[in-house]
Amino acid sequence: TAQERLRSFCIIAHIDHGKSTLADRMLQATGVVQPRDMRAQYLDRMDIERERGITIKSQAVRMPWAVTGADGTAATYALNMIDTPGHVDFSYEVSRSLAACEGAVLLVDAAQGIQAQTLANLYLAIEGDLAIIPVLNKIDLPAAEPQRHAEEIASLIGCDTDDVLQVSGKTGQGVPELLDRIVEAVPPPSGVPDAPARAMIFDSVYDTYRGVVTYVRVVDGALRPRERIEMLSTGAVHDLLEIGVISPEPVPTQGLGPGEVGYLITGVKDVRQSKVGDTVTSALRPATEPLAGYQEPRPMVFSGLFPVDGSDFPALREALDKLKLNDAALTYEPETSVALGFGFRCGYLGLLHLEIIRERLEREFGLDIISTAPSVVYEVTTEDGTTHTVTNPSEFPEGRIAGVREPVVRATILTPSEYVGTVMELCQARRGAMSGMDYLSETRVEMHYTLPLAEIVFDFFDALKSRTRGYASLDYEPDGSQQADLVKVDILLNGDRVDAFSAIVHKEAAYSYGVMMTRRLKELIPRQQFEVPVQAAVGSRVISRETIRALRKDMLAKCYGGDVTRKRKLLEKQKEGKKRMKAIGRVDVPQEAFVAALGAD
Ligand code: GDP
Ligand code: MG
Repeated sequence: TAQERLRSFCIIAHIDHGKSTLADRMLQATGVVQPRDMRAQYLDRMDIERERGITIKSQAVRMPWAVTGADGTAATYALNMIDTPGHVDFSYEVSRSLAACEGAVLLVDAAQGIQAQTLANLYLAIEGDLAIIPVLNKIDLPAAEPQRHAEEIASLIGCDTDDVLQVSGKTGQGVPELLDRIVEAVPPPSGVPDAPARAMIFDSVYDTYRGVVTYVRVVDGALRPRERIEMLSTGAVHDLLEIGVISPEPVPTQGLGPGEVGYLITGVKDVRQSKVGDTVTSALRPATEPLAGYQEPRPMVFSGLFPVDGSDFPALREALDKLKLNDAALTYEPETSVALGFGFRCGYLGLLHLEIIRERLEREFGLDIISTAPSVVYEVTTEDGTTHTVTNPSEFPEGRIAGVREPVVRATILTPSEYVGTVMELCQARRGAMSGMDYLSETRVEMHYTLPLAEIVFDFFDALKSRTRGYASLDYEPDGSQQADLVKVDILLNGDRVDAFSAIVHKEAAYSYGVMMTRRLKELIPRQQFEVPVQAAVGSRVISRETIRALRKDMLAKCYGGDVTRKRKLLEKQKEGKKRMKAIGRVDVPQEAFVAALGAD
């Protein structure tokens, strides 16, 4: 039957190890994309994905593959390939794809070997009982060391080195053999065909022309076009206008059966009606038990997002509503700032996630956005014993603080052994505590650290890469919280606090943060009629100070002297500027100054 000829697999790999390129070759080898329609990284559909060369969203594609059996008879199988993102920020997307597959292609760059993130995903796949197909990619590279890395992989997953396939996504070498192996090694889906329909929503996107497009994997039973479907969590009922598979563009079909992956269109316009993790069933013969949903991804990093032009606030809200639909990890609530006006406090999985949201808001929605310094989630206990959850430094309680807890992570770093000392130094400087070290082989070491999340979400990854010439890799997972010596640093302009610049930092870093911000603001804020002190303070204690000197009367006079056109120009410029001025107490600051101060590194 169709179900026995179905294979669902995902590709787990480190970023840049060649998933998207291999996926391209599979699309070609199976003939679903004609040579003239081929473009590189076919499945990376978002502009940002193509430009940055990274995959953010998972993609599911169906491809036919004919295999000749031992008895000489040919049979065509349907392969569902799910391409997954590789960056640590998006690992929740990976676990979702794993749950929709019976097999995983473990793809490793033959010049670099397995990386920390891949190792973590491999363990997830093994736990999920997926068939693992180990593959070395880029064997066309002169620097490839397939023998050495095959041994490493074989010892990790307990297979023979000969079982490790060798392919090149660049030349296509070994790709047909890999497709054959997928048919052979991955079991068919095990759903019950005549049970009431149950399908898991794993993604959901808004399309301007078609409304909400919902991506599902059917687990039991079947869904057919024109039937009425029900969302189990809400009981909402919709007409199924179209159902089909992605191959690699949407193709309508006569329905989806057990194990099949495809899309649904119901004409629903409200993005919140199609929740990722919800179970879709048939309204006529509904299932009673929902499928086990996904673990809600928890935001780890928060920052304020403000429209540069205040009148864009409603548009920003609408844009966030739309992005949220296929990005369950994004959270937001309204926030007001004296310096920046109306905006939203947003929660993200990490810094890359933040950057991508900001970029999508700018490109896909044409919004001009400022974001404030990112912050993790702190637990602050005041002396009266109450504990406050603080995701925004401006909410840090006033008065005496009994203690502050910060989130920590368990980090795994894979590095060539010659960089062990360098990595230790870096981790120590970031308040890390080492908890162990294993040799994967003579030349590669797996190091374990407990690190404050705040110390790694910002530039830790870049620092690690630059100190190990790109060879070390990092993975981390939440590991509770710890007590730490943290303080809030405020930035004061003429004695008034500028809310957007407050930050929660380690006591030892408070001074350097204060000096950096006061210097930066001194440079960016134009002189006023009077002298303006720019201070950094912890509580009522000032830790650094700069002064913006007053405009000199005689300079004004000179400026407003003889040259009439120059004078007019200046006045016009000032008028233009006035619209965007923010008043902090008595000080007028052009919004651009705040934007620049927040933007610089
Ligand atoms: P992804 O991040 O895992 O999706 O990796 P990509 O498919 O975007 O590939 C990363 C880089 O490696 C690109 O510059 C590809 O052209 C290159 N690449 C991918 N596969 C091969 C291969 O088999 N051989 C060679 N030489 N380069 C490859
Ligand atoms: Mg990719």
